[in-house]
Amino acid sequence: MVDGQPLRILILGGGFGGVYTAMALGRRLGRDPRVEITLVNRDNYLVFQPLLPEVIAGSIGILHTIIPIRRLCPRVRLYTREIEEIDLLRQTVITSPGVDHQATTLHYDHLVVALGNTTRLGEVPGLQEHAFPFKYLGDALALRNHVLHALEEAAVETDPDVRQSLLTFVVAGGGFSGVEVAAELNDFLRKAAANYQGIRTDEIRVVLLQGGARILPELSDSLASFAHEKLLHRKVDVRLGTRIAGATAEFAILKSGEKIRTRTLVSTVPMGAHPLLAAQSWKMEKGRVVVDEFLQVAGHPGVWAVGDCAYSLNAATGQPHPPTAQHALRQGQCVAANIAATLRGSPPTAFSFSTLGQMGALGAHSAVADVMGVKLSGFLAWLLWRGIYLTKIPGIDRKLRVSMDWLLDLLLPPDIVQLKTARPAGIDRQHFEPGQIIFSEGDVGDLVYTIVKGEVEVLREGLGETARPLAQLGPGQWFGETALVGRAPRNATVRALKPLDVLTLDREGFNSLFTHVRPLHQFFSDLIRERSAISG
Ligand SMILES: Cc1cc2nc3c(=O)[nH]c(=O)nc-3n(C[C@H](O)[C@H](O)[C@H](O)COP(=O)(O)OP(=O)(O)OC[C@H]3O[C@@H](n4cnc5c(N)ncnc54)[C@H](O)[C@@H]3O)c2cc1C
Repeated sequence: MVDGQPLRILILGGGFGGVYTAMALGRRLGRDPRVEITLVNRDNYLVFQPLLPEVIAGSIGILHTIIPIRRLCPRVRLYTREIEEIDLLRQTVITSPGVDHQATTLHYDHLVVALGNTTRLGEVPGLQEHAFPFKYLGDALALRNHVLHALEEAAVETDPDVRQSLLTFVVAGGGFSGVEVAAELNDFLRKAAANYQGIRTDEIRVVLLQGGARILPELSDSLASFAHEKLLHRKVDVRLGTRIAGATAEFAILKSGEKIRTRTLVSTVPMGAHPLLAAQSWKMEKGRVVVDEFLQVAGHPGVWAVGDCAYSLNAATGQPHPPTAQHALRQGQCVAANIAATLRGSPPTAFSFSTLGQMGALGAHSAVADVMGVKLSGFLAWLLWRGIYLTKIPGIDRKLRVSMDWLLDLLLPPDIVQLKTARPAGIDRQHFEPGQIIFSEGDVGDLVYTIVKGEVEVLREGLGETARPLAQLGPGQWFGETALVGRAPRNATVRALKPLDVLTLDREGFNSLFTHVRPLHQFFSDLIRERSAISG
């Protein structure tokens, strides 16, 4: 107790690091009324990421890769909220509001930071807008639905270029997750194509881009080249020494300048710092919070960090511990033991663990594995991969469900149901490269655009005439409103002059604002009048 108050232990993040800290603390201190353990996470479940690529093909039930945190940590108070702010001076954390509109302030005596990292999309133009990240369940679901949509459209598309782009799938990043996603996607697409009249399997192209000289740099040369050969054999186009330089809705643009026509780009590129952590005064290294051997943040007693967001050195090798689940969960257990030791007045224990092994699935009942120095590839490695992950997935119910899914998957064809769960967002972001047409005269007016960065020119083409420039627009300016308000086809063509980032507002969203928000109604009415006068 501190001044009659229970001692407050606050855990931020419900991935392997946070949940295993909470589980271990719950076992050690959960029944002690003098201690209060709280966990804040965006979702009320833990994602078992190693099985996430299987969600793409539907070979594992969507809900079977996630485990409810409440069931894993029954003695812990859970807030399913967004964490908005960490204040190390006041020892508080602010979360997003619950059902009312008030933010919640949580106070702590011990803070365990386990927020993971973020997929670094913002650094490459267009990636944020057009690439699929692959880290959480929502990402895997969104990708699965998008891929099925691409097959649906390709089956009825007559333009050969559009068809080619719909049937080309690009995965950036040749580490474990990139390789597993490419392999799983490739298998699924080739099996699923049998259900789509008119799509031949030889039209499907999965491209794996890897910046380095070989895929799976975490593995030995021989295992990596086995995996490479397997992927080539399955017709995956593996491109080494190739980095992504940009993306639009229609192209993946490579550093070499080559453009791959595609509507599906998945990015598993290396991770960046979590923005909440990057905003703090503590020391960061390679986007991770620097901790000492006890996993305590230097200069901040009572603040601990674990998992992908923690930069801790392996005392034996002098190298940082890699960002893997096997490290995150053990660090969580170590921090729980150290907090309990601190409360007892005992000395903390240094974290010590070396990677047990690495495994990667290659699809079609094949995998590569390097476990405690034993190297395996092919079917045997695949059996080991499945066996190990079945034992690792927490909870007997999930083990049973996943085993049943795997059994049925051997017997049944792939499921090609496309779930349209979310209403398309009213506001979205898009990126265009110079010269790219945003829309053409005569197109249907479906979106209004506001320029965030870059420049466009507005052109009137007329029948058989050369294009006549009407205007150039830059940041903060709008275009595309006339067709939506007038419910008419586009009366001009708009082309990007510089790399362009825009916010788009769909017809329904725009019409609601235009009809009900008076200043906006006035603004757009004046704008349309002004522009009609210019264009004649
Ligand atoms: C596809 C894939 C396959 C993988 N395969 C393997 C494997 O086979 N073996 C292995 O060891 N590792 C594997 N990994 C890596 C492993 O999953 C990670 O190292 C591990 O999940 C890290 O755990 P963590 O708790 O540090 O972070 P995370 O799992 O990222 O957890 C962070 C949590 O914090 C939450 N959060 C973040 N910001 C906020 C916020 N502002 N508000 C509220 N909540 C927030 C997130 O929602 C998340 O739940 C794989 C990863 C991926 C993506």
